[in-house]
Amino acid sequence: MLTRPFSRSHSPRPTHPHTPTLTHLEFLVVALVAAAAVGCGREAEESASREYRWPVMGTYGSLVVNGEGGDAAMAIARDAIEEVNAALSAFNPTSDVSRVNAQAGSGEFTQTGLHFQTMMAASRQCHDASGGAFNPAVGPLMEAWGFFRGGDARDFPPSEAAIAEARTLCDFAQAEMRQDGAARLDLAGMRLDFGAIAKGYAVDVAFERLLVAGYSNLIVNLGGNMRCDGERPGGVPWRVAVRDPRGGLDGEAIGMLRLGGGLAVATSGDYEQFFELDGRRYTHIMDPRTGRPVSGMAQVTVVSRTAAEADALSTVCFVLGAEAGAALLAKHPGSGAMFVTVDESGALTATMAGDFAKHYREER
Ligand code: AMP
Ligand code: MG
Repeated sequence: MLTRPFSRSHSPRPTHPHTPTLTHLEFLVVALVAAAAVGCGREAEESASREYRWPVMGTYGSLVVNGEGGDAAMAIARDAIEEVNAALSAFNPTSDVSRVNAQAGSGEFTQTGLHFQTMMAASRQCHDASGGAFNPAVGPLMEAWGFFRGGDARDFPPSEAAIAEARTLCDFAQAEMRQDGAARLDLAGMRLDFGAIAKGYAVDVAFERLLVAGYSNLIVNLGGNMRCDGERPGGVPWRVAVRDPRGGLDGEAIGMLRLGGGLAVATSGDYEQFFELDGRRYTHIMDPRTGRPVSGMAQVTVVSRTAAEADALSTVCFVLGAEAGAALLAKHPGSGAMFVTVDESGALTATMAGDFAKHYREER
């Protein structure tokens, strides 16, 4: 592992006692990444590759593709992502996720489709491999910490008793799936949420359909979950910016990844959704082992073979920390990560693991 301190330290944000705010900055990641993907070439190269962008899944989808046929390619990508969203969105009452959640504790099984079943199997694998650090049943804990209450400060932070009660409902072992794809949550109040992996998975579905349809030399991006094929015009690799987790609204980069060959990248950050109270930041990624939001991690960026794998690994590495995260990555050939930890004074330290350094350069 390569560890190096950042050249500057950052002070914590101002405190807002009793009025925690929920901040969503994901679109910044998209904007930054998109700019890096298409904005670095010579003029002729830029004119040969086009970017298509549209709002979806609470963020933006985008496709950067070289040459002709972009509109048809964009339709393929958009339809694929919408299809996955329709099956997995917890905000859509007719999705498989919502229908399974609605039956929690009733004893009834709910028939689900391929996307749900794929997410359950991938989540089970990641959950078991990480000793439960990856857990798509973490919703009741998020609720206890106020993440679905739109900034309501009542009962914040939650009592030990409230945390313990929520934790009993976050038992992924009590989520069952039969061979025929019917699923059931055994406890009333359980809730599934594939937010840590579904965007990456949607990128993979779009990417694979585009390749089957004959497209090449492209990037599919969904809220910073990206997968790249081939190269930019001029035979140069795609470049993807890694943002400074405290880079502010201008979305400053700390370095660039050069990616191709079907590789994917995903980032989990403590700035995507968080509360600040009494000088402490409470981020939206939970450590199911403690029942608390993860602290001490600002950002994890993972490069991997598929976007679903990169998405799940970036979230679970955020929970596990640099050492245990690197051990998990070692079981995923071709993957690598940059961990950016943050100490009490706000100072950031970057650590690279696995194959990350092969693709990464400190440049803007
Ligand atoms: P990501 O931005 O991909 O890191 O995913 C973060 C989202 O995953 C959160 O907003 C939650 O919906 C969900 N989540 C939070 N903690 C966990 C966890 N330990 N395991 C799996 N999903 C989680
Ligand atoms: Mg993730």
